[in-house]
This record gives sequence, structure tokens and C-alpha cells, in this order.
Amino acid sequence: THFKELDALKSEFVSTVSHDLRSPLTLIRGYATMLDMVGQLNEQQHGYVSKIITGVEVMSRLVNNLLDLGRIEAGVGLQVEDVVLMDVVEAVTSSLQLQAGEKNIRLGVELAQGLPRLIRADRALLQQAIYNLVENAVKYTPQRGKVTLRLKPRLEDFLVEVQDNGIGIAPADQPRLFEKFYRGSQREARKQRGSGLGLAIVRSVAERHGGKVWLESQLGEGSTFYLSIPYQQKGDANGKTKPFV
Ligand code: ADP
Repeated sequence: THFKELDALKSEFVSTVSHDLRSPLTLIRGYATMLDMVGQLNEQQHGYVSKIITGVEVMSRLVNNLLDLGRIEAGVGLQVEDVVLMDVVEAVTSSLQLQAGEKNIRLGVELAQGLPRLIRADRALLQQAIYNLVENAVKYTPQRGKVTLRLKPRLEDFLVEVQDNGIGIAPADQPRLFEKFYRGSQREARKQRGSGLGLAIVRSVAERHGGKVWLESQLGEGSTFYLSIPYQQKGDANGKTKPFV
């Protein structure tokens, strides 16, 4: 109960603050970008401006994450539609290929037999959840590691598995990882930039779809995150008539 209350307080705080931060951030970014259009900047000034822009981009990403989380938790805007599973996989892997390549991490995809081509879900949210899991796997896996994204059909839902052979997660951290702002306590994990919101978003997306998220991990060996998403959404009238082909 205490944690629930705390979580609700965090949500309220988060939605107020993130909303109010958006416009000043847009303003800063806009004017910082315009500086070199209104006059010649020397190299040092250029350097400062690009540091400002990078900082603002980090903050904007955080604010967007917070707003997304707020929206998902409030239950507004779950847009259930036909989703081609392969398209989601494709979008996630292609946008993370570069990040993986920079660390010489092999990013593999395995699709089990019997997966439906189409499911009913909120495409943007599903994609974001899978993206967050694969991005974490790449982030928390050292050079020349391996990350595999697997999709497996089950009776009523399908399973997304994201396996890495990275730093792993201490048992004490595991139960709290999906809380907002919670970051792992290991030194290697702390070296990475992050806000502790990625997995909170994954959990909210899973719950909104009637699914679940959990993990298995061994320190120093690697981690596997599991996300289950039902093929159909409750109360989705359109979904029932469409056969899976
Ligand atoms: P962030 O990555 O911004 O810190 P997340 O909510 O995505 O926030 O993750 C929370 C914490 O879970 C991370 O700080 C990290 O300690 C741990 N974590 C998540 N994914 C992995 C992974 N694949 N391997 C090891 N640790 C992980």
C-alpha cells in the first residue's frame, strides 16, 4: 500500500512537471539552434551551443518518456489496430542496429513457427515496449556481446523474449526494476545514461494490453526479459471478426 501511494504521488508529480517543462525546452532548443544563423560563431561558441543542444535533447527525451508514461497510466489513447508483427520487429531492430554495431554486438531475431501475421494491439506502444527492452539489452551488454529478440506463439498470447549475455542484474534489484526511476545498483549499470523509466513504460504497456513482463537474470552472465501480449484486446469489437492470416 505504501509503495502504491508513493507510485501515485510520483505519477502526479511527473505529469505536472513534465508538462510544464515541455515549452521552455522547445524554446531553448529553438534559440540555441538559431544562434549560428544570426551571426558567425567561433569554434568555442559552436562547441558550447552544441553542448546546450545535446543537454536539451536528453531532457526532452526524459520529458517525452514521462508524458508517455503518464498517458499510458491514465489509460488515454490506447489505439487498438491491426498490427503486423514483422513490421514492429523490423522497426525496432533497424533503429537499434547502429547502436549495436557501434559496440560490435550481434543483434539477432528469431521468429518461432506458428506466429500470427496480425495481432490487435496499440502499435506505437507495443513497438516502444519492445524497443525499450532491446535498447536496454544493447546498453547493458559489453562490446562483442550478443542480443537476441525472439517471438514465440502461445495459446492466448505471444511471448517476446529479449536475451542478452551482458552484465546481468543483482537479485536485490530484480523486484524493483519496473518501478519508475529505479536504476540498478551495479557500477557497470550506473555508467550508462538513463532515467529509470524504460522498464516502467514496458510494464505499463504490458498491463494496458492485459499482458505481463518479467525477467530472469544472473549477475555477470546476462538477462532475459519476457513480455507477453494477448493476441486480442478485451472490448475490441473489430478484433473478433478478423482471422489470423
Ligand atoms: P534506465 O535504463 O534508464 O536506467 P530502465 O527502466 O530501462 O531505466 O532500467 C532500469 C534498470 O534496470 C537499469 O538502470 C539497469 O540497472 C537495469 N537493466 C535493465 N535492462 C537490463 C539488462 N538487459 N541487463 C542488465 N541490467 C538491466
